[in-house]
Amino acid sequence: RGFTGSLAYRERARQVLARGVSSSPRASQLPVAIVQASASGCRVTDVDGNEYLDYALGYGPLLLGHSPRPVIDAVRAELERGLRTGGVTSGEAELAERVAACLPSAEVTTFLSSGTEAVQLALRIARSHTGRHRVVKFRGHYHGWSDGMHVSNAPGSDALTTDGQDPLAVRNVISLDWGDLDGLHAVLDDTVAAVITEAAAVNAGCFEPDPGFLEGLREATERHGSLLVFDEVITGFRLGLAGAQGRYGVTPDLTVLGKVLGGGLPISAVTGSARAMEPVSSGRVLHRGTYNGNPVSVAAGNACLRYLSERADELYPDMERRGERLTDGIREAAARASAPLAVNRVGTCLQFFVSDRPLERLSDLVGLDKDATLAFSELLVERGVMTLPRGLMYLSVEHTDADIDTTIGAFESALGAFAG
Ligand code: PMP
Repeated sequence: RGFTGSLAYRERARQVLARGVSSSPRASQLPVAIVQASASGCRVTDVDGNEYLDYALGYGPLLLGHSPRPVIDAVRAELERGLRTGGVTSGEAELAERVAACLPSAEVTTFLSSGTEAVQLALRIARSHTGRHRVVKFRGHYHGWSDGMHVSNAPGSDALTTDGQDPLAVRNVISLDWGDLDGLHAVLDDTVAAVITEAAAVNAGCFEPDPGFLEGLREATERHGSLLVFDEVITGFRLGLAGAQGRYGVTPDLTVLGKVLGGGLPISAVTGSARAMEPVSSGRVLHRGTYNGNPVSVAAGNACLRYLSERADELYPDMERRGERLTDGIREAAARASAPLAVNRVGTCLQFFVSDRPLERLSDLVGLDKDATLAFSELLVERGVMTLPRGLMYLSVEHTDADIDTTIGAFESALGAFAG
């Protein structure tokens, strides 16, 4: 495989485009710095003509793959009606109805453009509701890149995440270890407006919640009058039509959605019961944004959720089964090669780590050498399998059993090269 076209583009782009990309993670070494020329289903072709089985899937939104006919047709039809950016358009209520039909916690919804923004709105709603100002989050969980939430993103760390971040913005954020209910009980008081969590820790490396943990969060927040916020930007419509809350049977006050909600176009949402959403419904909490609920993204979202709703009984179990086959296949290949490769899975989200010790809980990641996993992802790219460089993989409805077999073969070959 040659990468001269991608490398030449990166050289050119760096002259005029800061770091050559438009989002920091895309600047990682191969695989994601590959310049994509076209994509179809779960396959991407780069500017050098190399083809990849894509498990990066645009960082998660492309559950229906790169070219879902219903979404693309709906977007085309919507474009023919003119852009109408910033106007009120009739698809918005339909999308809110679809969200309410899918999620146990959803009655009233409001739309934004990115997950980062939607998290901010959810926390603002929680502060308005409670008249309190502090927020509890968990180490290793990612809730977007705003000054106020871009903290303690690594397990075992309470650090700010970027140069230039306002240190005062995180003054009211309390970071705890995920699973630590005793720690939570110790900090919950009448200053805590919200507890926010990824309901399954996908960004940190695909860890399921400990049995009883989400129930414990629900009970403790209710008792202390704080709002429980599930950040389902990744898990919404991916771990099932009802997301992580449906999978684990725990209903939060507010849910943040993004990614799959738009079928690949930018849209996010905050949703909850009519009571939980009252600060926005009443106008007490301001919610602004030129592109909020833009008709093209809304049309894509409606087409995506219609497609998923009509086929949920068949699609989700099929994807789950393929996820399990892929996980088992990689584990068996690693065992045969006596290679230190661990795999975690939550539904259609997989994470491989180069690690010679078991990684059963998020806190087991403290001190893990991330470079070895990055190097392994590069070996996979050379073999036509694209993952996120940190070892996270998403499945789509387009990945077939034959694709899974091909992928396991690529892992086997990469393991051989890794050992050598
Ligand atoms: N929350 C979670 C759980 C996410 O995974 C992400 C994005 N990876 C975000 C929030 C931020 O979403 P966005 O990139 O759309 O701002």
